[in-house]
Amino acid sequence: MAPRTGILLYSGGLDSLLAARILLDQGIELIGLHFVLPFFSPHADPADTAAARQAARIGLSLRHIRCGRDYMDMVERPAHGYGKHINPCIDCKIFFLQRAREEMERTGAAFVATGEVVGQRPMSQMRHMLNHIEHASGLDGYLLRPLSARLLKPTVAEDEGIVDRERLLDISGRSRRRQMELAARYEIEDYASPAGGCLFTDANYERRLRDLFAHRPDYDLAAVYLLSVGRHFRLNERTRLIVARNEREGSALERARDSADCLLVPDFKGPTALLTGDVDEATLALAGSIMLRYGRPEGINAIQVFRRGDDPRTMTIARPIGEDELKRAALA
Ligand code: SF4
Repeated sequence: MAPRTGILLYSGGLDSLLAARILLDQGIELIGLHFVLPFFSPHADPADTAAARQAARIGLSLRHIRCGRDYMDMVERPAHGYGKHINPCIDCKIFFLQRAREEMERTGAAFVATGEVVGQRPMSQMRHMLNHIEHASGLDGYLLRPLSARLLKPTVAEDEGIVDRERLLDISGRSRRRQMELAARYEIEDYASPAGGCLFTDANYERRLRDLFAHRPDYDLAAVYLLSVGRHFRLNERTRLIVARNEREGSALERARDSADCLLVPDFKGPTALLTGDVDEATLALAGSIMLRYGRPEGINAIQVFRRGDDPRTMTIARPIGEDELKRAALA
């Protein structure tokens, strides 16, 4: 018999927690793969999250894998297109499952499992699409969906008795009732909402990301992370401004100063900002007027300019930007 070890795609959501619990209850050894989406701070530890703590609580060990540039290339050009916003759910699943298959082959595990439920999501969980995703990720016969398994063709792991099919479930559709009942039975309380934390499904984030793809093809992962921080403005074809909304975001921008061209710190009570692209006197003045708009100007207002390769200097800002001009520059 093949080893009773499986790979589980773990998102931190209830469905993947339940899938893990069902398999762990059968005495199967699981390796949880947790793909860390690019919105997660490069300075934060993925092991120090609610999702990781919940996995530990049910006895699931995790490997955290940060999504890199190859993942973003898929997001930019998904073979199966987008959902409602810039969410490439079908290609995203295939991407994760291909990595999981490689891990299965590398470790000698018997199967790959997910928390998917037949018919739960309009785009990627329809039955024909589940079959297509399984095939496209090279997992024909090796992809187990414990929550819906009894409605699907038995996998090799079930046929070989590695997994007991009788102890798998037959959940389908959009209702979460049975999952909630199972959560109560297993005393699982603290879990992420479905697709929780995926900003590709957010309209504002979509505008920012499309702007990045259009204006900065050589972007790095730090730039992708920064799309989730602050207010964003396109000052001209070559220059984008990020303005912090609070102290936490101000600190995030200061930490990211090496990946931008210019850090702007107000002398008045107001937000820190980051400029990427061409920085000249006109863009600095425009950026300063936006910072003033979100700050509390008093008397002579100045900003500290920390431009890459230059000595720091101070610049006086005449007045806050007008509302019409602000709206034209705002990305979200
Ligand atoms: S919601 Fe986000 S993380 Fe989930 S499959 Fe879609 S794109 Fe991927």
